[in-house]
Amino acid sequence: MKYDGHVHSLFCPHGSPDLFEEYIGKAIELGIEEISFTEHAPLPDGFFDPTPEKDSGMDSDQLHAYIEQLHSLKTSYRSQIKINIGLEVDFIEGFEAQTKKFLDETGPLLDDSILSVHFIKEKDKWHCLDFSAEMFGEISRQIGSVEAVHERYYSTVKKSIHADLGDYKPVRIGHITLVHKFQKQFPISISFDERVIVLLDDIHRKNYALDYNGAGATKPLCGEPYPPERFIRHAVQLGIPLVYGSDAHQAKDLGQGYESLRHTHLLTSPMQNVYNNKS
Ligand SMILES: [Zn+2]
Ligand SMILES: [Zn+2]
Repeated sequence: MKYDGHVHSLFCPHGSPDLFEEYIGKAIELGIEEISFTEHAPLPDGFFDPTPEKDSGMDSDQLHAYIEQLHSLKTSYRSQIKINIGLEVDFIEGFEAQTKKFLDETGPLLDDSILSVHFIKEKDKWHCLDFSAEMFGEISRQIGSVEAVHERYYSTVKKSIHADLGDYKPVRIGHITLVHKFQKQFPISISFDERVIVLLDDIHRKNYALDYNGAGATKPLCGEPYPPERFIRHAVQLGIPLVYGSDAHQAKDLGQGYESLRHTHLLTSPMQNVYNNKS
């Protein structure tokens, strides 16, 4: 693989203490020519992180150190690998204004970014979709059914695609079928495929790109990349740029799930259409 557009780091509070240099060394070893570090952006003020350790996003007081360290690594490794400074930004329903403000301030400092949905809103509560199978089961009970969780997830992804998050809104949509993470334990009785197809049509119309995320393929209860082949086929027909993402949270996970991907000859650099929404 030539590119990895979705990599976490020691700045991730639920990640590993592996140093940037360990990720970069491993990437060079794998023959990767370009890597985007896309740490979870700090969560908006006032948002109550529903995970037990409240560790879904980076501490906001670490953001500048994260960017600074990547800046110097970018220079020191320049002859060996292209390093992009990025963030994985959460779309959280109800926090659009704060997210836009954050992107207005931080976007100019970044090379790359991903927009992801990890939280779904139900009444006045937010739930974290991908924390654990136990939590997924609990959310299904609270919202009413597994199907209702899928419904809520896809409607939130739709809002994320259409949200006005300003000039620095990420143009790559993260792991668009993350709701499949525990699908073997929580199967659905109706198909949501048409919903995903419509999301891909929306992504195409917006000129956005897709995070073709290998992590799902390594999760025993998921067993497929985000998204699986039937959706990638549609994305390919539409010409949506596909950017491989390992979603590694430790250096040894770089490249994970890559062997399960199809159409790998079409994978592009994360920078291909970044910020194409800027005028
Ligand atoms: Zn993470
Ligand atoms: Zn994510």
